[in-house]
Amino acid sequence: MKTVEESLARILDFVAPLGVEKIPLTECLNRVLAEDAYSTRHIPPRDNSAMDGYAVKHRDLRNASPESPAVLRSVEEIPAGSSPGKRIGTGEAARIMTGAPVPDGADAVIKIEDVDVEDDRVRCFTPVEEGENVRKRGEDVIEGEAVIAAGSHIQPAHMGMLAATGHALVPVYKRPLVAIIATGDEIIDIDGDPSSEKIISSNSYSLYGQIIEAGGIPLPLGIARDTKKDLMSHFSMAKERAQVVISSGGVSMGDYDLVQDVLTELGARVEFETVAQRPGKPFTFATTETIPFFGLPGNPVSTMISFEQYVRPALRKMTGHKMLFRRTARAVLDENITKKNDLTYFIRGKATWRDGSFTVVTTGEQGSGILKSMVLANVIIVLPRGMTHARRGDEVTVQLIDKSILSAATPGYLAAWPWKGPSS
Ligand code: AMP
Ligand code: MG
Repeated sequence: MKTVEESLARILDFVAPLGVEKIPLTECLNRVLAEDAYSTRHIPPRDNSAMDGYAVKHRDLRNASPESPAVLRSVEEIPAGSSPGKRIGTGEAARIMTGAPVPDGADAVIKIEDVDVEDDRVRCFTPVEEGENVRKRGEDVIEGEAVIAAGSHIQPAHMGMLAATGHALVPVYKRPLVAIIATGDEIIDIDGDPSSEKIISSNSYSLYGQIIEAGGIPLPLGIARDTKKDLMSHFSMAKERAQVVISSGGVSMGDYDLVQDVLTELGARVEFETVAQRPGKPFTFATTETIPFFGLPGNPVSTMISFEQYVRPALRKMTGHKMLFRRTARAVLDENITKKNDLTYFIRGKATWRDGSFTVVTTGEQGSGILKSMVLANVIIVLPRGMTHARRGDEVTVQLIDKSILSAATPGYLAAWPWKGPSS
C-alpha cells in the first residue's frame, strides 16, 4: 500500500503539460497562458485628455482666478477619435473631449466647469498644473512591455489587457479530454427507470463538474456492467478517444471488481492499487505510454476525495497551471476526532473565520456514501498518517475547497504556495 505522498508523487511524475494551442481571445477565460504576452503598442498610444475641457499651456493660467481670469483664444475643437490640426501657441486653447489626443504645444487640460466661453474667447478661472487631466502616452503600458506572464490563469482583466495589447489569438495550454466511466450492475443513469431501486450514477456528474473545475474537458462514456466484456469495451473506447481516463467503482476486493484485470488486459501497467487513506483506500492508478488511468473507488465521497487529491493536481499540471494544489490554512478544531494511526484522513469540514482565525467542525456523518458530507463542506480537514486523534482546541491543516471562504481570511493566515502534500 502506498502513502498519500508516494501516490501523488508517482502520478505527478507521470503527467506533463499537454502542449500549446492558439485560440480566440473570447475563449480564453480560465485557460493558462503558455507564453509571456508582450505589448505591440503604447497604451494610451499618445497623450490624451482625461476630461472634457480646453487644452492649454499651463503657464498661461499661472495667475488665473475668479476675479482675474486668464483669457485665451480657442483655435479648434478636438472630438475623441480625431487628430488635432493645430499647434497651441501662447494665449491659445483648443476645445477637447475626453479621450481626444492633446494637441502639440498644450501641456494641460482645464475642465469645462472651470471656464466660461463666449464665441472663441475662453475665460479660465483657475490655474492648472503641468500635465493636469492629461493621460500620458504609455502611462499604462509601453511598447514591448511584458504585460502578462506565461503560466497566468486568465481572468477577465487579463482578457482586457490581451485585447488592449493586440492579441486576438492567444497561446494557451491544451486541455485534456477526460473520459468518465461509471461501473456497476446496480448503477443507472439519471434518466433510468424511476421506480427501480437501482442507484443513480451521481459519480458521473460530480466527476463531470470536478473535471471542468480542474481545467479538463469531460467525455462521459456511460455505465459499464460488471462484466469483463462490457468493461473492456468501455475502457478501450476511452483509450481511443481520451487523454485521461477516470472510472468509478470496481476497484475493491469483491468478485465483481474487475477494473484492474481489464486495465491489465488492455496493456496498461498497474502502478498501485491502494492508498493509505480514508476515504478512498482502493484506488487503481495505471498507465500506458501516454494515458493515465484513474480507477477511483465507487463510493460517492471516496470518488470525489480521490479526484480532489490526485486527479485535480494531475489535470492542473497537464493544463500548465503553476499552482497544482488548493490553498491550505490552519484551523482550530472544535470537536474530537479519533482515527487509525496508519491512514491519512480527509474529513469534510465546515470552517468559519472568527476573531482572526479559522474554527472548523466536521460536516457530521462521515461515511464514504454520505455525499451530504461533501455538499456541506467548505474545507477538507487533513489528518496525516501517524496521528491517532485530534482533540478540540488542536490546530489542524485544512484544504480550502470553496473559494468564497478565502475572502473571509486575512491573507497572512493562508499557508504559502506551493502546498507539498498533506504532511507539510
Ligand atoms: P464498488 O467499489 O464498485 O463496490 O462501489 C462501491 C459503492 O459505490 C457501491 O455500492 C455503490 O453504492 C456506489 N457507487 C458505485 N458507482 C457509483 C456511481 N457511479 N454513482 C454513485 N454511487 C456509486
Ligand atoms: Mg461496483
